[in-house]
Amino acid sequence: MDLDLPAEHVLLRDTVRAFMLTEVAPVIEVHERERRFPTDIVRRIGELGWLGIPIPEDEGGAGLDTLAYAVAVEEIGRVWGSLGLIVAAHTSLGCGPLHLAGTHEQQQAYLVPMASGRVLGAYGLTESGAGSDAGGTRTTARRDGTDWILDGAKRFITNAGQAGTYIVTAKTGETAKGAAEISAFIVPAETPGFSVGRLEDKLGLHASATGELRFEGARVPAENLLGAQGAGFRTFLKILDGGRISIGALAVGLAQAALDAAIPYARTREQFGRPIGSFQGVAFMIADMSTEIEAARQLVWRSAWLKDQGRDFGLAAAQAKLFASEVSSRATNAAIQIHGGYGYVTDYPVERFMRDAKLTEIGEGTSEIQRLVIARRVLDLRVI
Ligand SMILES: Cc1cc2nc3c(=O)[nH]c(=O)nc-3n(C[C@H](O)[C@H](O)[C@H](O)COP(=O)(O)OP(=O)(O)OC[C@H]3O[C@@H](n4cnc5c(N)ncnc54)[C@H](O)[C@@H]3O)c2cc1C
Repeated sequence: MDLDLPAEHVLLRDTVRAFMLTEVAPVIEVHERERRFPTDIVRRIGELGWLGIPIPEDEGGAGLDTLAYAVAVEEIGRVWGSLGLIVAAHTSLGCGPLHLAGTHEQQQAYLVPMASGRVLGAYGLTESGAGSDAGGTRTTARRDGTDWILDGAKRFITNAGQAGTYIVTAKTGETAKGAAEISAFIVPAETPGFSVGRLEDKLGLHASATGELRFEGARVPAENLLGAQGAGFRTFLKILDGGRISIGALAVGLAQAALDAAIPYARTREQFGRPIGSFQGVAFMIADMSTEIEAARQLVWRSAWLKDQGRDFGLAAAQAKLFASEVSSRATNAAIQIHGGYGYVTDYPVERFMRDAKLTEIGEGTSEIQRLVIARRVLDLRVI
């Protein structure tokens, strides 16, 4: 694996891995059990420059590439899925739109504090009636003098209640074809009329906050429109393409964690007087996990590399996310199977890996939506 990565990326990977194992691993269990957001750890990784890895230096980031970002998210996810999701949502979804569509003034005011790790970001697209079909957005924004007034609600937003800056989509009118005209807005947490509602009680990723955003006459100045009016839909499609690389990387990290746990267990747990890894049924599970994880990693790296080359990466990112997330669910499930009853109880971390991995098949476009994206591109049929 090292042969494939440039030296700079290997150094970043090893640094993140060492940090995760020494400073983060010991505090995971208490945060997960108490469903506590890891404020201190997030602050610390911000100081280390890991909350803006692929963002240019003049926009507050580390100025590294997407491959470096994918490598870092994998290493974070390999130890703690919740932290991986916090970082991925902040970077791809919070910082990403400001980098892609922000003016110089918006970038200086909002992106620099976020990418330099001082302010956490979040992205609100999903609503109760608009999940896979984001065109069904009901949240509205109407112009009032020099301001925009937002009304509505967002659901399932990562970093809700923890972020200082929210990028949200809202309907600003109708297109000539009668579809919703969607625009993006920068909403600082202290905006009057904006509040965070219920936080979700989730299957996994217990230390990451997922919650509702409420807009009740929330007033932001005209300069908080992000990109052109009506460009919000196009912007978020591009953002989701990039975000899929990081969710793919998170999925690979969780799958690798499952393999890392399964190997020593299979070597040391004995039944019938032999290590269980010597039974072909168990050994083949490990062989499949290791093969699929390596394939998933290569797809994620390839999509990151294409993005870094300025080439079309949408298809590759959807393929990487689809494959990696399904590998992640299979591998984490297999790790429980290999641990037998011990895998089903919380003494071992593999049950957490499985609960966390499931999200990667849902967030940033479900597996079915990835298949739609891929099929549209491969078949080149608009009607799918
Ligand atoms: C932990 C967590 C964190 C999240 N973080 C964020 C965030 O930060 N920001 C944000 O905006 N959103 C976030 N989401 C929302 C997430 O992106 C949505 O849950 C996801 O896009 C699916 O939408 P939905 O839940 O409404 O499901 P639905 O769209 O209702 O889908 C239900 C089922 O129908 C299937 N389906 C829907 N349409 C089709 C179709 N055309 N063809 C085939 N099958 C279809 C889906 O694949 C799925 O299996 C998060 C969700 C979770 C659980």
